[in-house]
Amino acid sequence: MNYQHLEYQNTLDFARDLDRQDALHHFRDQFYIPSVNNKDSIYLCGNSLGLQPKTARIAAEQEFWDWQNLGVEGHFHGTNPWVHYHEYLQEKEARVVGAQPDEVVVMNNLTTNLHLMLVSFYRPTPFRYKIITEAGAFPSDQYALETQVRYHGLDTDEAIIELAPRPGEHTLHTEDILAAIREHADELALIMMGGINYYTGQVFDMAAITRAGHEAGAQVGFDLAHAAGNILLNLHDWDVDFAVWCTYKYLNSGPGGVGGTFVHARHAHASGIPRFGGWWGHNKEERFQMRKGFKPMPGAAGWQLSNASIFPMAIHKASLDIFDAATMPALRAKSEKLTGYLEYLINHLGATQEILEIITPADPAWRGCQLSLLVHQNGRQVFEKLTQAGVILDWREPNVIRVAPTPLYNTFEDVFCFAEILRQSLAVKD
Ligand SMILES: *Cc1c(COP(=O)(O)O)cnc(C)c1O
Repeated sequence: MNYQHLEYQNTLDFARDLDRQDALHHFRDQFYIPSVNNKDSIYLCGNSLGLQPKTARIAAEQEFWDWQNLGVEGHFHGTNPWVHYHEYLQEKEARVVGAQPDEVVVMNNLTTNLHLMLVSFYRPTPFRYKIITEAGAFPSDQYALETQVRYHGLDTDEAIIELAPRPGEHTLHTEDILAAIREHADELALIMMGGINYYTGQVFDMAAITRAGHEAGAQVGFDLAHAAGNILLNLHDWDVDFAVWCTYKYLNSGPGGVGGTFVHARHAHASGIPRFGGWWGHNKEERFQMRKGFKPMPGAAGWQLSNASIFPMAIHKASLDIFDAATMPALRAKSEKLTGYLEYLINHLGATQEILEIITPADPAWRGCQLSLLVHQNGRQVFEKLTQAGVILDWREPNVIRVAPTPLYNTFEDVFCFAEILRQSLAVKD
């Protein structure tokens, strides 16, 4: 079935029909759904914290048992020997982001990994020192860029170019991004932006931006916090230099869970590239010889610093198994249909643009599952009403509600019920 031409209907029966036809519907049973007022909530907040897979606790418990029974021997003789732990994740992680297995590694947290990547990929010279990024990037990304620029003794106003939407618009035009890259080509060291903007939900054209960045002689990296596990990514083929992401949003791997990092094979096998090193990134054969002289192992794994954080990685491993079973192409196909239905229902609420506006791009190619709703009147009260009615979503100042139905555990019925509650909430003035 071609979902793009699907005729949606504004009824609960229709929503339930779509759930019955949905080949991924059973994956919902693999998650714990938080309850509000003793019934399942309508959880539309997977863009902030994904839900707990039922297998997460079992996976962590295995490591508790091995630690309990084996102590230090767990490193080599555990059920999943800890010394190799990052390797268990590489193939499945690579499938999520469109990479070769040795181009990815799971380690640390997102912002830490972003700094490690900037050490390697932002190496300003007197002539090439500028960074292009999106205006209104997630604060951690802004702070990372700002402090890296200062660390190199440069002026942030001079070095950081923030691309803002045209007046009166909410999202960026690809042609404007590419024009800015060409305009600053001679001084450009780096392009670093979100793969999806966390606030508007806009997907950026990573392939075109990377191509233009390379033509300008710059390195190109993306923060995929809102993209990994949400949209189809092809980091290797797009020729992206580096990328970082977290695993606790769409990848459902628990609060503060481990981060993911991609380094393109071009760089990952060039051992001369500057980096901050640690023993876990050192040549594996020699790691325990404790000798002087850092020799990075090939691939993204050569950026590891410390021995693996087994517990969050065990949870992530359990979560990746679910993604592998569902597959990203199938998840994305359902996601477009689910978010398309959400958009259809919102457009049929009878709310004018003066009351409610979707600021996320209308073209499914340029958005993931999230729609950002700009509520022009009584936004905070509308949000409170939704919350009281058992909908879990998130509020971003000054007046945006982000709604993210995820294809693994959300249903068409969830989306239908949300829209009904939104209709009632909008009717409330004070
Ligand atoms: C969620 C998010 C982060 C969070 O960073 P942590 O290091 O995991 O705390 C950073 N950047 C973006 C774009 C995000 O969406």
